[in-house]
Amino acid sequence: MSIAHYKAVGQLKPLFYGLFVPPSINKHSDTVFWFDVMPHGEKRFVSVYVIIEEKTVLIETGPASSNSNLVEGLDSMGIKLEDIDYIVPTHIHLDHFGGGGHMMRLCPNAKAIVHPKAYAHVANIDRWWEGSADFLGKIAELYGKPVPIPESDLISADDAYELSLGESSMVALHTPGHAPHHITWIYGDEAFVGDSLGLWYSDLNTSFPVTPGYYRHDLALESIDKMSNLELTYLHHTHFGPRPAKGAIEQVKSEFEIWMGIVEEGYRKGSSAEEIVNILFDTRYGLSETDMNHGIHQTATHLGSVEGMLNWVRRNDA
Ligand SMILES: [Zn+2]
Repeated sequence: MSIAHYKAVGQLKPLFYGLFVPPSINKHSDTVFWFDVMPHGEKRFVSVYVIIEEKTVLIETGPASSNSNLVEGLDSMGIKLEDIDYIVPTHIHLDHFGGGGHMMRLCPNAKAIVHPKAYAHVANIDRWWEGSADFLGKIAELYGKPVPIPESDLISADDAYELSLGESSMVALHTPGHAPHHITWIYGDEAFVGDSLGLWYSDLNTSFPVTPGYYRHDLALESIDKMSNLELTYLHHTHFGPRPAKGAIEQVKSEFEIWMGIVEEGYRKGSSAEEIVNILFDTRYGLSETDMNHGIHQTATHLGSVEGMLNWVRRNDA
């Protein structure tokens, strides 16, 4: 069941039948599939997406450390690595694209498409890796070190860059805030949102901000507004899985604003990031469940988000 076969007969539709459906592969639509790459066995944390049209696109790779799971997932879909035309991250944080260069070495016909601000760091990983190691500490080691991608295999995607896939296309929407080099990829009335709309917890039916490092609250809210103008039907989160868009963007925006309100109040009182994250755990419905589900990693994530918001408040106050 190779993709080439479906291309040959001009039939891209049913990839899987009955008993042959591997349990880990989710079919979202006739052209969009997704699965869990489970870095270090952590489930429901990093999803990757595959679009199959005339072109085959892998969206996000996950970290380097889960590359073997990624390759197995693609294999169980019947996708040969040489069939992959494009590898398209939303941004190059290690949990999204740390495995990008490794995958590019395995996919001889693929080009990687990144934001112009990420281009140089993907071609020469030194600053990317140093920055990640500085910020993530031990977690960077757990994710694994990226490898560079030669410039000849890299495409730089300006805002509104259009990638033709055959019948339809994907369009790059620059959505800075979480990171300056973040792209939300628009595919018809659906979007691959990376981290621009926070972390989606389908079991809790809610999303929470993810705002680490040099977070820009003004740009994050502008980016959210840009997305809300598009009348999207589905938001494909990396963390984790597709979310119906109805009401979701409003929920996320309000959560970002509520968190920032709590962080600003904490800043005025001189509270530490730990104290502020504990207020969020006590007051935001479902947040403590996310901590129980994902253990120490998730605590570090929420603390990192509060620190990013605190940095933003501090810079504005300076
Ligand atoms: Zn990120």
